[in-house]
Amino acid sequence: MATNKVYFIGAGPGDPELITLKGHRILSVCPTVIIASSLVPMEFLKYSPKDVKVYDSAAMNLEQIIAAMKEGVKVGDVARLHTGDPSIYGAIQEQMAELDKLSIAYEVIPGVTSLFAAAAALKCELTVPELSQTVIISRYGGRTPVPEDFDKVAAVGGTLALYLSAGFLSEIALRLISQGRSADTAVAVVYRAGWKDQQIIKGTLTDIAEKAATITQHALVIVGDAVSGALPALSKLYDAKFSHGCREGDR
Ligand code: SAH
Repeated sequence: MATNKVYFIGAGPGDPELITLKGHRILSVCPTVIIASSLVPMEFLKYSPKDVKVYDSAAMNLEQIIAAMKEGVKVGDVARLHTGDPSIYGAIQEQMAELDKLSIAYEVIPGVTSLFAAAAALKCELTVPELSQTVIISRYGGRTPVPEDFDKVAAVGGTLALYLSAGFLSEIALRLISQGRSADTAVAVVYRAGWKDQQIIKGTLTDIAEKAATITQHALVIVGDAVSGALPALSKLYDAKFSHGCREGDR
């Protein structure tokens, strides 16, 4: 008999159509699902078998989650649904470490991280030519320690995507300005990207804290002029004069 597995599945940012085909296929046959209901809509359960056993991890601790997985694999595969992509602030490492101790097999199925849903909602490119060729994913403190020096992160420039940080907009703006980012740098706060109640608030480092004061969680903070729709230069990729592996330049 094949050994049953735990599948860590990226559910995407919330829109039930933004799960991968692979994630959907696995979810549709797993007799047990553990869903992070605070960030993954229960609507995803429509993809599960009718008699699926559901655990909501929002109110569970690590030990309880592992116990549910242990029970689940006795019956069949277990779908562990995570918001966005499981590798970004998903706390999957500790779950996998426990499964290793128990010799329970697992696999990770990637998902659309909320940053990409936010960029889609903003209809912007995060890597605009000659404006930003670097995207940094980070967060601003909170109760979880951040081992990197935020001032150094702030000083890099480019596009800075901050998860779990919407409650710290004034602090973020001050730190970024003190590290040399211009006060009129564009900032977008995208609340619940891809959900029915999605909200987009645009501003600058000077006014974003005031404009987005009511948004304290479930939002992406994206700093950088790329989110303003600015286009200082066109790409080389589609430049008629530029040759590359797939195309000869005209001149
Ligand atoms: N693994 C997730 C992130 C989990 S941490 C991912 O890849 O997206 C939770 C944080 O993710 C939230 O505080 C928020 O910053 C962000 N987030 C998750 N879903 C979001 C959404 N639909 N819209 C905006 N931000 C979201």
